[in-house]
Amino acid sequence: MTDAINNADAMFHLFMEGAPYAIAVTNPKGEIVLVNSRMAQLFAYRPEELIGQTIEILVPERFRVKHSEYRRKFHQEPDIRPMGTGRDLYGLRKDGGVFPVEIGLSPIQTPDGLLVLAAISDISQRKRSEDALRQSEARLNLALSAAHAGTWDWDMTDDQAMWSEESYLLFGLDPNKCKPSYKLWLSMVHPDDRAAVQGRVKSLITEYITQPVHDMFDLEYRIIRPDGVVRWVNDRGQIMYDHNNRPVRMIGIVFDVTERKAAEERLARQAQELARSNAELQEFAYVASHDLQEPLRAVAGCVDILRRRYQGRLDARADEIITHAIEGAARMQNLINDLLAYSRVGSRDQPFEWADSHAALMSALSNLEVSIKESGTMVTHDRLPEVMADQAQLTQLFQNLIGNAIKFRSNKAPVIHIGVERQKDEWKFSVSDNGIGIEPQYLGRIFHIFQRLHARAAYPGTGIGLAICKRIVERHGGGIWCESRPGEGSTFHFTFPIR
Ligand code: ADP
Repeated sequence: MTDAINNADAMFHLFMEGAPYAIAVTNPKGEIVLVNSRMAQLFAYRPEELIGQTIEILVPERFRVKHSEYRRKFHQEPDIRPMGTGRDLYGLRKDGGVFPVEIGLSPIQTPDGLLVLAAISDISQRKRSEDALRQSEARLNLALSAAHAGTWDWDMTDDQAMWSEESYLLFGLDPNKCKPSYKLWLSMVHPDDRAAVQGRVKSLITEYITQPVHDMFDLEYRIIRPDGVVRWVNDRGQIMYDHNNRPVRMIGIVFDVTERKAAEERLARQAQELARSNAELQEFAYVASHDLQEPLRAVAGCVDILRRRYQGRLDARADEIITHAIEGAARMQNLINDLLAYSRVGSRDQPFEWADSHAALMSALSNLEVSIKESGTMVTHDRLPEVMADQAQLTQLFQNLIGNAIKFRSNKAPVIHIGVERQKDEWKFSVSDNGIGIEPQYLGRIFHIFQRLHARAAYPGTGIGLAICKRIVERHGGGIWCESRPGEGSTFHFTFPIR
């Protein structure tokens, strides 16, 4: 018999100590009659320190009065209260530390009256995670509402959907007056976009079988709000699958992109308009200069006849007028020729092909042969590469730059070098001379059409040469600029992308 009692005692002790909770048992007066060592440990007491104390010793000061009221009520109407069903409770450690706890209560009837068994666990860790989650959720919501982004969640298995407040706002719907669903969403989509959007969703759902990677989607479509306002939205989301790899749920985020769309459309229209007016202008410049040649040739011809027949036969003033007319006609012919050349770049282009820039340079030098000889020019060059280009335009580019280097020479014989170096993904060419140079304040202007820095009498020209160079280089995707020291010389750089 004693053995049996001893055995039962030992078993009871084992259960108490082995239980996964801290356990305390109190009598009707609220005094602790039994604790396990987990309990003592949790509150930083030795077990014997707790026995005989009222349970309120373990309750923070500010909850004590309330706690003893609860305790009395529980004794009057005892029932089992499982863990996790009550309000937030706190425990007080011996050292004064307060920590959140969860408590389950069981009344136990004994010959000595009603005892209460309390199982307690420390939930600090869980509370911390819950707080962190709440905070990050609050931050996310703040960001979503600041970005006017709505979120949605669609359970495909039963067509239940959930929309965030911002989603309702975006769709112009009242959350109290409608139930979100796939059907409701689809009915909001603009009729012109509906078939495409529906098709995309369907294909997303079926694609998974063949291409399970396609679980993200990004759609842009218009919606019509109940008040008739049309908005563009961007809808991005993800499909989720069950363990059989069947799509069961979609979640997403939806933004109002109406302003961006409007700006894009404006830009596209402007670009189109610009391209059209550019093409028109180009055509106009070409046709105008081309058609001007004909009457001009007639005028030049007539003035030439006048010169041959009447020069020296009329008075000196008449001779002077005839000379002016001839010079004027010649200048106009030059201008028109240059204008034609300018408008040809861009309107009558040849497609790009592999072009030998060395051969282009040689053609340019051969075209400039006479002035090279007359001026005693010396030309040197690096080994030049092949580039993707319009060969004729490449020749023209070299010719204009070298022609200028000769024309704007100082009193020394021109020395010109054509260099090239490779820079990452482009070739950087240079044409340097030892000529008169250019004042820094004019360096930006010289590439504009008709911009000249000198009187025609000092250096002949129309001011179109460099504008043509700029056009050619830009057409090939490069840039052109000049570095110069007045009195010492200039270097024109231009780049060609390496394709
Ligand atoms: P043009 O040669 O018909 O005057 P360009 O467009 O070729 O027209 O050149 C514009 C101006 O830039 C020239 O009038 C000249 O003042 C200046 N320029 C161009 N190339 C050089 C150069 N190599 N050295 C000095 N000045 C130059």
